[in-house]
Amino acid sequence: MNADRPVRVRFAPSPTGYLHVGGARTALYNFLFARKHHGKFILRIEDTDRSRYVPDSVDDIMASLRWLGITWDEGPDVGGPYGPYVQSQRVELYRQYTHQLVEQGHAYYCFCSEERLQSLREMQRRLKLRTGYDRKCRNLSPEEVQKNLDQQVPYVIRLKVPLEGSTTFHDLLRGDITYPNSELEDIILLKSDGFPTYHLANVVDDHLMEISHVLRADEWIPSTPYHQLLYQAFGWDPPIFAHLPVILSPDGKGKLSKRHGATAVREFREQGYLPEALVNFLALLGWSPGSDREIVSLEEMIELFDLKKVGKRGAVFDYQKLLWMNGEYIRSLTDEELYQRALPYMEAAGLIQNDADREKFRAVVPLIKERIKTLAEAPDHAEFFYREPETYDEKGLRKHLKDPGVFHRLRLVVERLQALDDFTVASVEQAIRGLAEALGVGAGKLIHPTRLAVTGRTRGPGLFELMAVLGKETCIRRIQKFIQRFEGTEVHSTTP
Ligand code: GLU
Repeated sequence: MNADRPVRVRFAPSPTGYLHVGGARTALYNFLFARKHHGKFILRIEDTDRSRYVPDSVDDIMASLRWLGITWDEGPDVGGPYGPYVQSQRVELYRQYTHQLVEQGHAYYCFCSEERLQSLREMQRRLKLRTGYDRKCRNLSPEEVQKNLDQQVPYVIRLKVPLEGSTTFHDLLRGDITYPNSELEDIILLKSDGFPTYHLANVVDDHLMEISHVLRADEWIPSTPYHQLLYQAFGWDPPIFAHLPVILSPDGKGKLSKRHGATAVREFREQGYLPEALVNFLALLGWSPGSDREIVSLEEMIELFDLKKVGKRGAVFDYQKLLWMNGEYIRSLTDEELYQRALPYMEAAGLIQNDADREKFRAVVPLIKERIKTLAEAPDHAEFFYREPETYDEKGLRKHLKDPGVFHRLRLVVERLQALDDFTVASVEQAIRGLAEALGVGAGKLIHPTRLAVTGRTRGPGLFELMAVLGKETCIRRIQKFIQRFEGTEVHSTTP
């Protein structure tokens, strides 16, 4: 084992879809490990399975990683001394290495047709045998091989797995893992289209790119004995393996999947999560900084990250906890930062169209900061600052409209507001509290119906604060509209 090699780790996604949070967690752990040990973090695109290739996924993977703040030292776009970093650009290399294995007797040509393999599988299933290749071509004579090649019979190249004994590799988190060779198959290394399989390309690249540690999801454990055999066949030192715990659904009963909610990084971005919150949350999926602390910055994670503290047990993906964490991060932003980050969501919702709208949003931000858990919630919480309420909270209406004095009190509120020269938080508060005192009623008797009339809601930021942002005319107009619309109605719904 090569514990003394300089640390070089990689994230090697297959571009088969948008970056999943599981992939992001793998990338993050590799990134943290590299930074912690002053090593290199490499991004390598494993796109040799052309049938599963999704064209825009490479862009999505790179954009999502960057958005999370996970940057790479070598990779497809930034280059590096071990490139190219896209496997489809390295096909010739894989071909050469596979043929080297054939020449050395570790791999062989297989000319079996798809039809033969199909009926083999069917037969094995019928007889309830293990499915897998029956090694028919493993012992073809050199002459038979040559004849087939001359006749241009399509072929694949397979690994010659030892028929006896067992294959053991060491996992940093789990110790030695052993597979009897009788349970391994002569897997394909080079496909008939000339492209390598994952196994071959992955091992060749990890070797050529001098990868010191392979940190990847535990679903790859069954692949690792094949990789181990390939390292042996090539005579190369394998990297150190550590397989990361699986990410479980919120109920802990199975793997996290789309059924449970968002799984792609881009979805969390669209839903208004902050990258630093998502990174913090992902870091704790299987790793703990060693205390009960939950809010940890990227710098601290780098400082504290320790592979030995990564667990083996599956880590539950708790959406509620992520939401809570995001709220914490939102509150830790300055008003200006929150303004900048929430602006795109306000624009997308059509609430902000010009400079005046934008200016107003600066005043709105501190009022909603305590109340939102995602950036995408900002438009809903800020809507009444931009649009007159069309509908009113039903419960609120039911409560206030059965109070016979409510319209009279609202008229008095309007009067007091009209008399104000200076429409500030303090002056509005004084006006309304002064009125309550004069009427001998609790301030709530004025505050709650006024809130409903002005915002359409029963909850929200402080009433005096929001009224000061809305301004005198708007507040008065809304209260009058409310009076006009509901006075004398028995209300059962919001549309009288
Ligand atoms: N291309 C594999 C994937 O999509 C990489 C697995 C590994 O890291 O070896 O996850």
